[in-house]
Amino acid sequence: MNVTNSQDHHALTNLASAMANGEVATVDLTHTLDPDFPVIILPPEFGQCARFRMEEISAYDHRGPAWKWHNFSCCEHTGTHFDAPIHWISGRDLPNNSVDEIPVERFIGPACVIDCSEGAARDDDFELTPEVIEAWEADYGRIPPDCWVLMRTDWSKRSGAAYLNMCDDGPHSPGPSPEGIRLLVEQRDIRGFGVETVGTDAGQGQHYTPPFPAHYTLHGNNKYGLQCLNNLDLLPPVGAVVIATPLKIKNGTGSPLRVLALVPRSHTV
Ligand code: MN
Repeated sequence: MNVTNSQDHHALTNLASAMANGEVATVDLTHTLDPDFPVIILPPEFGQCARFRMEEISAYDHRGPAWKWHNFSCCEHTGTHFDAPIHWISGRDLPNNSVDEIPVERFIGPACVIDCSEGAARDDDFELTPEVIEAWEADYGRIPPDCWVLMRTDWSKRSGAAYLNMCDDGPHSPGPSPEGIRLLVEQRDIRGFGVETVGTDAGQGQHYTPPFPAHYTLHGNNKYGLQCLNNLDLLPPVGAVVIATPLKIKNGTGSPLRVLALVPRSHTV
């Protein structure tokens, strides 16, 4: 065994023992898939996203005496879910742009967590602007290339109507400004952008130029999205590793998934 292989071996052995002895904790960033969990609602002239549905096939009964199982169905974009570049028109011709074609190493990577919870508590339309990002970097260092940036808003603590926050003029929820998402994508070269809300864009994102700038800019640059994340308040600003592996749906534009974060114990106390 050469030195490089030996170090690789030790890295994995060290990770396994750190997870076993609690030095590294595993945090679930996922909401439970449930028929009541809100899904995005588009204006009525457009097609709509389906909620999660589950039907019983058998439950240790005449339909199957020794087993219980269900059929389920939902939209690719229901619950805690992954957005692939093919989801948006700006990414439709990019290589490896669907969930089945994205190289698997892209699904595991470091995360920077920008805490916008105070701003989002004050203002339902709070914007992640370049100023907010640069203030975070003044405290924690420049966002490195190829990491997930997660926008913490504590929106995941809302439920029912308060989650979509639909008003007469449409939904109101926080998100990045066009300049904010362009900074992350074009100058920081992030891997993807994750949020606690139902979309990577703000509720009022259709009024920006371009409309829905997070979707347009992320997916047009082969970056990914994560939506309806949970428990972002349990993550450190830097140092967590996110595992986000969507279902391998042929030509899939996204997928519900279980999102996990590995977190150093010193940050979870
Ligand atoms: Mn989506």
